[in-house]
Amino acid sequence: MEYESSVGGGIRLTVLDENHTYIEQFYLGEPAFSVLVEDGDEKILFDAGYSDVVIRNAETMGIDLNKLDQIALSHGHHDHACGLKYMLDDCEIAGLPLTACEGAFDHREIPEKDLSAPFDRKKAAELFDLRLTDRPVRLSEHIIFLGPVPRNNDFENGEPLGTVTHEDGISEPDRVLDDSSLVIETADGLFILTGCAHSGICNTIEYAKQVTGEDRIAGVLGGFHLFRTGHRIDETIRYFKENHVKELYPCHCANFKCRAAINEVHPVHEVGVGMKLELTAKGRSFGAYDKASLTD
Ligand SMILES: [Zn+2]
Ligand SMILES: [Zn+2]
Repeated sequence: MEYESSVGGGIRLTVLDENHTYIEQFYLGEPAFSVLVEDGDEKILFDAGYSDVVIRNAETMGIDLNKLDQIALSHGHHDHACGLKYMLDDCEIAGLPLTACEGAFDHREIPEKDLSAPFDRKKAAELFDLRLTDRPVRLSEHIIFLGPVPRNNDFENGEPLGTVTHEDGISEPDRVLDDSSLVIETADGLFILTGCAHSGICNTIEYAKQVTGEDRIAGVLGGFHLFRTGHRIDETIRYFKENHVKELYPCHCANFKCRAAINEVHPVHEVGVGMKLELTAKGRSFGAYDKASLTD
Protein backbone atom coordinates (compact mmCIF):
# COMPACT_ATOMS: atom_id res chain seq x y z
CA MET A 1 0.00 0.00 0.00
CA GLU A 2 1.37 3.40 -0.95
CA TYR A 3 1.50 5.93 1.81
CA GLU A 4 1.55 9.64 1.05
CA SER A 5 3.83 11.37 3.48
CA SER A 6 2.95 14.95 2.60
CA VAL A 7 -0.24 16.17 4.21
CA GLY A 8 -0.18 19.75 2.94
CA GLY A 9 -0.25 21.47 6.31
CA GLY A 10 -2.89 19.19 7.78
CA ILE A 11 -2.49 16.75 10.63
CA ARG A 12 -2.59 13.05 10.04
CA LEU A 13 -2.89 10.27 12.58
CA THR A 14 -2.15 6.63 11.78
CA VAL A 15 -2.73 3.95 14.41
CA LEU A 16 0.33 1.67 14.22
CA ASP A 17 -0.38 -0.53 17.24
CA GLU A 18 -3.55 -1.21 19.19
CA ASN A 19 -5.42 -4.04 20.86
CA HIS A 20 -7.86 -4.31 17.95
CA THR A 21 -7.64 -4.93 14.24
CA TYR A 22 -10.23 -4.46 11.49
CA ILE A 23 -11.74 -7.26 9.44
CA GLU A 24 -9.94 -7.69 6.10
CA GLN A 25 -7.05 -5.43 7.15
CA PHE A 26 -4.19 -7.75 7.87
CA TYR A 27 -2.14 -5.76 10.32
CA LEU A 28 -0.97 -7.08 13.67
CA GLY A 29 -2.53 -6.11 16.98
CA GLU A 30 -1.33 -6.51 20.58
CA PRO A 31 -2.44 -5.04 23.92
CA ALA A 32 -0.34 -1.93 23.41
CA PHE A 33 -0.49 1.45 21.70
CA SER A 34 1.33 3.52 19.10
CA VAL A 35 0.25 6.28 16.74
CA LEU A 36 2.18 8.11 14.03
CA VAL A 37 1.29 11.81 14.19
CA GLU A 38 2.18 14.02 11.22
CA ASP A 39 1.89 17.76 11.69
CA GLY A 40 2.68 18.97 8.17
CA ASP A 41 6.14 17.51 7.52
CA GLU A 42 6.91 16.84 11.19
CA LYS A 43 6.63 13.14 12.03
CA ILE A 44 6.12 12.30 15.69
CA LEU A 45 5.87 8.75 17.00
CA PHE A 46 3.51 8.78 19.98
CA ASP A 47 4.24 5.61 21.96
CA ALA A 48 6.04 2.61 20.55
CA GLY A 49 3.95 -0.46 21.35
CA TYR A 50 5.19 -3.52 23.22
CA SER A 51 7.01 -5.70 20.68
CA ASP A 52 8.19 -5.35 17.07
CA VAL A 53 4.56 -4.99 15.94
CA VAL A 54 5.00 -1.28 15.14
CA ILE A 55 7.90 -2.11 12.82
CA ARG A 56 5.99 -4.88 11.07
CA ASN A 57 2.80 -2.85 10.67
CA ALA A 58 4.70 0.21 9.44
CA GLU A 59 6.39 -1.98 6.82
CA THR A 60 3.03 -3.33 5.62
CA MET A 61 1.59 0.20 5.53
CA GLY A 62 4.58 1.54 3.57
CA ILE A 63 5.59 3.90 6.39
CA ASP A 64 9.32 4.55 6.72
CA LEU A 65 10.19 4.67 10.43
CA ASN A 66 13.70 5.87 9.51
CA LYS A 67 12.13 9.23 8.69
CA LEU A 68 10.74 10.01 12.14
CA ASP A 69 11.62 13.44 13.54
CA GLN A 70 10.86 12.79 17.19
CA ILE A 71 9.28 10.46 19.72
CA ALA A 72 6.93 11.16 22.63
CA LEU A 73 5.90 8.68 25.31
CA SER A 74 2.51 8.96 27.02
CA HIS A 75 4.10 7.23 30.03
CA GLY A 76 6.73 4.63 30.81
CA HIS A 77 4.64 1.44 30.92
CA HIS A 78 6.01 -1.47 28.92
CA ASP A 79 3.06 -1.66 26.49
CA HIS A 80 3.86 1.89 25.31
CA ALA A 81 7.65 1.94 25.54
CA CYS A 82 9.15 -1.53 24.97
CA GLY A 83 8.74 -1.27 21.20
CA LEU A 84 11.63 1.23 21.27
CA LYS A 85 14.01 -1.64 22.01
CA TYR A 86 13.13 -3.33 18.70
CA MET A 87 13.09 -0.08 16.77
CA LEU A 88 16.62 0.75 17.96
CA ASP A 89 17.80 -2.48 16.32
CA ASP A 90 15.86 -2.09 13.08
CA CYS A 91 15.37 1.64 12.47
CA GLU A 92 17.37 4.84 12.58
CA ILE A 93 15.81 6.31 15.70
CA ALA A 94 18.91 6.61 17.95
CA GLY A 95 19.57 10.23 18.88
CA LEU A 96 16.06 11.47 18.11
CA PRO A 97 14.41 13.88 20.54
CA LEU A 98 12.36 11.82 22.99
CA THR A 99 9.86 13.67 25.17
CA ALA A 100 8.35 12.09 28.27
CA CYS A 101 7.47 13.08 31.82
CA GLU A 102 9.95 12.92 34.66
CA GLY A 103 9.84 9.42 36.10
CA ALA A 104 8.89 7.66 32.87
CA PHE A 105 12.02 5.49 33.09
CA ASP A 106 11.66 4.56 36.78
CA HIS A 107 11.38 0.87 37.59
CA ARG A 108 7.78 -0.34 38.08
CA GLU A 109 6.31 -3.72 38.77
CA ILE A 110 3.32 -5.68 39.92
CA PRO A 111 3.85 -9.07 41.63
CA GLU A 112 5.91 -11.27 39.30
CA LYS A 113 5.71 -8.83 36.40
CA ASP A 114 7.97 -6.00 35.27
CA LEU A 115 5.97 -3.11 33.78
CA SER A 116 8.96 -0.82 33.14
CA ALA A 117 10.23 0.82 29.97
CA PRO A 118 13.02 -1.22 28.32
CA PHE A 119 15.81 0.90 29.80
CA ASP A 120 16.39 3.25 32.72
CA ARG A 121 16.76 7.03 32.45
CA LYS A 122 20.56 6.94 32.19
CA LYS A 123 20.47 4.51 29.27
CA ALA A 124 17.60 6.40 27.64
CA ALA A 125 19.70 9.58 27.80
CA GLU A 126 22.55 7.75 26.04
CA LEU A 127 20.27 6.44 23.30
CA PHE A 128 18.11 9.51 22.66
CA ASP A 129 18.06 13.28 22.96
CA LEU A 130 16.06 12.80 26.15
CA ARG A 131 13.69 15.59 27.12
CA LEU A 132 12.04 14.80 30.43
CA THR A 133 9.57 17.45 31.48
CA ASP A 134 7.30 18.38 34.37
CA ARG A 135 5.34 20.94 32.34
CA PRO A 136 3.69 21.33 28.91
CA VAL A 137 6.05 21.35 25.93
CA ARG A 138 5.25 22.26 22.35
CA LEU A 139 6.48 19.53 19.99
CA SER A 140 5.44 21.08 16.67
CA GLU A 141 3.35 23.92 15.29
CA HIS A 142 0.02 22.40 16.37
CA ILE A 143 1.01 19.76 18.92
CA ILE A 144 1.62 20.11 22.64
CA PHE A 145 2.89 17.42 25.02
CA LEU A 146 0.91 18.11 28.19
CA GLY A 147 3.41 16.96 30.80
CA PRO A 148 2.02 15.60 34.09
CA VAL A 149 -1.75 16.06 34.38
CA PRO A 150 -3.17 17.52 37.62
CA ARG A 151 -5.69 15.15 39.17
CA ASN A 152 -8.38 17.42 40.47
CA ASN A 153 -11.76 15.75 40.12
CA ASP A 154 -13.19 13.39 42.74
CA PHE A 155 -14.20 10.46 40.52
CA GLU A 156 -10.93 9.62 38.76
CA ASN A 157 -8.76 8.85 41.76
CA GLY A 158 -7.37 5.68 40.26
CA GLU A 159 -6.02 2.90 42.45
CA PRO A 160 -2.21 2.59 42.36
CA LEU A 161 -0.91 0.08 39.85
CA GLY A 162 1.86 -1.90 41.55
CA THR A 163 5.03 -0.29 42.83
CA VAL A 164 7.38 2.29 41.37
CA THR A 165 11.02 2.62 42.42
CA HIS A 166 12.49 6.02 41.71
CA GLU A 167 16.10 6.73 40.81
CA ASP A 168 16.93 7.53 44.44
CA GLY A 169 15.91 3.97 45.35
CA ILE A 170 12.71 4.98 47.13
CA SER A 171 9.70 2.77 46.33
CA GLU A 172 6.03 3.69 46.63
CA PRO A 173 2.63 2.67 45.25
CA ASP A 174 2.63 3.60 41.56
CA ARG A 175 -0.01 6.16 40.64
CA VAL A 176 1.70 6.56 37.24
CA LEU A 177 2.34 10.24 37.81
CA ASP A 178 4.31 10.30 34.54
CA ASP A 179 1.08 9.86 32.57
CA SER A 180 0.57 12.47 29.85
CA SER A 181 -1.15 13.10 26.51
CA LEU A 182 -0.73 14.98 23.24
CA VAL A 183 -2.99 17.90 22.46
CA ILE A 184 -3.51 18.75 18.80
CA GLU A 185 -4.81 22.21 17.92
CA THR A 186 -7.29 21.80 15.09
CA ALA A 187 -9.66 24.21 13.39
CA ASP A 188 -12.52 22.54 15.31
CA GLY A 189 -10.91 22.75 18.74
CA LEU A 190 -8.62 20.39 20.61
CA PHE A 191 -8.04 16.80 19.55
CA ILE A 192 -6.51 14.86 22.43
CA LEU A 193 -4.41 11.76 22.02
CA THR A 194 -4.05 9.73 25.22
CA GLY A 195 -1.95 6.68 26.02
CA CYS A 196 -3.65 5.04 29.00
CA ALA A 197 -5.09 8.20 30.63
CA HIS A 198 -3.94 6.97 34.06
CA SER A 199 -4.50 10.58 35.19
CA GLY A 200 -8.17 10.26 34.26
CA ILE A 201 -9.63 11.10 30.87
CA CYS A 202 -11.64 14.04 32.25
CA ASN A 203 -8.66 15.43 34.20
CA THR A 204 -6.69 15.22 30.95
CA ILE A 205 -9.30 17.09 28.91
CA GLU A 206 -9.67 19.69 31.65
CA TYR A 207 -5.90 20.31 31.75
CA ALA A 208 -5.70 20.50 27.94
CA LYS A 209 -8.34 23.25 28.05
CA GLN A 210 -6.43 25.08 30.77
CA VAL A 211 -3.07 24.89 28.99
CA THR A 212 -4.36 26.04 25.61
CA GLY A 213 -7.20 28.39 26.60
CA GLU A 214 -9.43 26.51 24.11
CA ASP A 215 -12.73 25.05 25.36
CA ARG A 216 -13.89 23.25 22.23
CA ILE A 217 -13.02 19.54 22.24
CA ALA A 218 -13.02 18.16 18.70
CA GLY A 219 -12.17 14.63 19.77
CA VAL A 220 -10.34 12.23 22.07
CA LEU A 221 -8.52 9.11 20.88
CA GLY A 222 -6.65 6.57 22.99
CA GLY A 223 -6.88 4.61 26.21
CA PHE A 224 -9.51 5.96 28.61
CA HIS A 225 -8.49 3.61 31.45
CA LEU A 226 -12.07 2.45 32.05
CA PHE A 227 -12.73 -1.15 33.01
CA ARG A 228 -15.85 -1.08 35.18
CA THR A 229 -19.26 0.40 34.77
CA GLY A 230 -20.56 2.42 37.72
CA HIS A 231 -20.00 5.83 39.28
CA ARG A 232 -16.77 6.69 37.47
CA ILE A 233 -18.08 5.99 34.01
CA ASP A 234 -21.39 7.70 34.74
CA GLU A 235 -19.52 10.82 35.77
CA THR A 236 -17.21 10.51 32.76
CA ILE A 237 -20.17 10.37 30.37
CA ARG A 238 -21.74 13.34 32.14
CA TYR A 239 -18.47 15.24 31.67
CA PHE A 240 -18.35 14.40 27.93
CA LYS A 241 -21.90 15.71 27.52
CA GLU A 242 -21.42 18.86 29.57
CA ASN A 243 -18.27 19.71 27.66
CA HIS A 244 -19.73 18.89 24.23
CA VAL A 245 -16.87 16.53 23.41
CA LYS A 246 -17.50 15.84 19.73
CA GLU A 247 -15.79 12.64 18.62
CA LEU A 248 -14.88 9.78 20.94
CA TYR A 249 -12.35 7.08 20.04
CA PRO A 250 -11.93 5.04 23.24
CA CYS A 251 -9.56 2.10 22.76
CA HIS A 252 -6.61 0.23 24.26
CA CYS A 253 -7.53 0.31 27.98
CA ALA A 254 -11.25 1.02 27.65
CA ASN A 255 -12.93 -2.37 27.70
CA PHE A 256 -16.00 -3.40 25.71
CA LYS A 257 -18.49 -2.85 28.54
CA CYS A 258 -17.28 0.68 29.10
CA ARG A 259 -17.16 1.54 25.41
CA ALA A 260 -20.70 0.14 25.08
CA ALA A 261 -21.88 2.19 28.07
CA ILE A 262 -20.50 5.39 26.55
CA ASN A 263 -21.97 4.44 23.17
CA GLU A 264 -25.47 4.29 24.73
CA VAL A 265 -25.28 8.02 25.34
CA HIS A 266 -22.62 9.27 22.92
CA PRO A 267 -21.75 7.26 19.77
CA VAL A 268 -18.13 6.06 19.84
CA HIS A 269 -15.87 5.20 16.92
CA GLU A 270 -14.27 1.80 16.58
CA VAL A 271 -10.49 2.04 16.67
CA GLY A 272 -8.12 -0.50 15.19
CA VAL A 273 -4.62 -0.84 13.75
CA GLY A 274 -4.41 0.98 10.43
CA MET A 275 -7.00 3.63 11.29
CA LYS A 276 -6.15 6.94 9.65
CA LEU A 277 -7.57 10.30 10.62
CA GLU A 278 -6.97 13.62 8.95
CA LEU A 279 -7.51 16.75 10.98
CA THR A 280 -7.57 20.33 9.82
CA ALA A 281 -4.87 22.28 11.60
CA LYS A 282 -5.73 25.42 13.50
CA GLY A 283 -4.70 28.50 11.55
CA ARG A 284 -2.31 29.86 14.10
CA SER A 285 -0.68 28.81 17.34
CA PHE A 286 -1.88 30.04 20.71
CA GLY A 287 0.11 33.12 21.71
CA ALA A 288 0.41 32.25 25.38
CA TYR A 289 2.06 28.92 24.60
CA ASP A 290 4.40 29.69 21.77
CA LYS A 291 7.44 27.52 21.26
CA ALA A 292 9.80 29.65 23.37
CA SER A 293 7.57 29.92 26.42
CA LEU A 294 6.93 26.19 26.47
CA THR A 295 10.45 24.90 26.10
CA ASP A 296 12.67 27.31 28.02
ZN1 LIG B 1 -0.23 2.30 31.48
ZN1 LIG C 1 -1.39 0.86 28.19
